[in-house]
Amino acid sequence: MRLIKYLAAVFVIGVLHSCSDRTGVNYVEGLSYLDNSPVRIEYENGKITNVVNIRRLSDPNSKIYVAPGLIDNQVNGFMGVSFVDTGGELTDEGIRLVTTSLWERGITSYFPTLTTNDHQIFLKNFALLAETRKDPSLLGSIPGFHLEGPYISPVDGFRGAHPLRYVRDPDWDEFMELYEAAEGNILQVSLAPEVPGAMEFIERCRDIDAVVGLAHHNGTMEEITEAIDKGARLAIHLGNGLANTINRHNNPLWPQLADDRMMVGMICDGIHLRPEQIKVFYRAKGPDRIVITSDASSLGGLPPGYYLNAIGDTLEITPEGAIVYPAQQVLAGSAQDQSVGVGNVMRATGCSLAEAIQMTSTNAAQLYSLEDRGELISGKRADIILFTMEDYKMDVKKTIVAGETVYNALE
Ligand SMILES: [Zn+2]
Repeated sequence: MRLIKYLAAVFVIGVLHSCSDRTGVNYVEGLSYLDNSPVRIEYENGKITNVVNIRRLSDPNSKIYVAPGLIDNQVNGFMGVSFVDTGGELTDEGIRLVTTSLWERGITSYFPTLTTNDHQIFLKNFALLAETRKDPSLLGSIPGFHLEGPYISPVDGFRGAHPLRYVRDPDWDEFMELYEAAEGNILQVSLAPEVPGAMEFIERCRDIDAVVGLAHHNGTMEEITEAIDKGARLAIHLGNGLANTINRHNNPLWPQLADDRMMVGMICDGIHLRPEQIKVFYRAKGPDRIVITSDASSLGGLPPGYYLNAIGDTLEITPEGAIVYPAQQVLAGSAQDQSVGVGNVMRATGCSLAEAIQMTSTNAAQLYSLEDRGELISGKRADIILFTMEDYKMDVKKTIVAGETVYNALE
């Protein structure tokens, strides 16, 4: 009797986790994000094994799309958890909470992002993240980390909400301590090109295959071009990390937009960039050279109000969903997750769902050489999301990570 109960439990869990046909192959059906055609995605042992065009979906009225899981290269925290301790000490439970909360929103891979802070906190948190990312229950959702700062502009406005007392000039030996604590998993370093030592630092990042981004800076055209020559590849959250008043000719926007070698990151939360900025950036770069990120803060996912962080700063989530740092009237990260960017970029630019997913998944996979994800093709990881799109809003219904169903609102 006990054995029967056990088998029944196994059977129920099996049904909850996936659909499978008579041969035992797992599959999902939906409208392809590429062209709206009905497809069946088969997967086994964590990988996609087959993508089959089918005549119609089992429910012909279904408006559920299927796409690769989203990849966010800039997540500072979520649900009260901060990767630099501004929400309290980072724990492995906190890392797990961020991961599972993002899964529910369709983000199947993300880069915990550590912004300008104390060196000891960096060391401690990179070490914890390096350990926790190996946990099999996180299903490989943390391919690596992003260090944004502390090697940025100390100037108000360009510095954004990064605390001045921790801003400093690039120091390769200091960075190597962080890199070792992170067990070599820092995939993105974002810094200002105009600060002393930046160019040598950018050059050395080539040796460790870290992608260099330009962030929180007031670099000249010459400095930006030299940084790109030396290997910088991404303009971090273009249009943000910029003073409110800039020179109309000489400012960091034009050279970063004009140089075709440079990709741009955009925060499409509806607050950090106006629709016309998103449209102009999109027209300048095209869907091949844009990575949409959330820049989600530790306050992401929380209700409006005033919050005091662990380093004594007061932050406000406004009723409109902006997180502001009232002391300097600057934005301090986003309250939204990356999935809202899919609809927002489509609304602002008129781009297709295929292009929006390219900018929220495929491009990041290519930029960071994450060759196992970012597309729905045979051989890639089974990181699959099912969702509806209504009024430019992505509503995630089911998330599969490495073949495991981790979120399911369809039952
Ligand atoms: Zn930033």
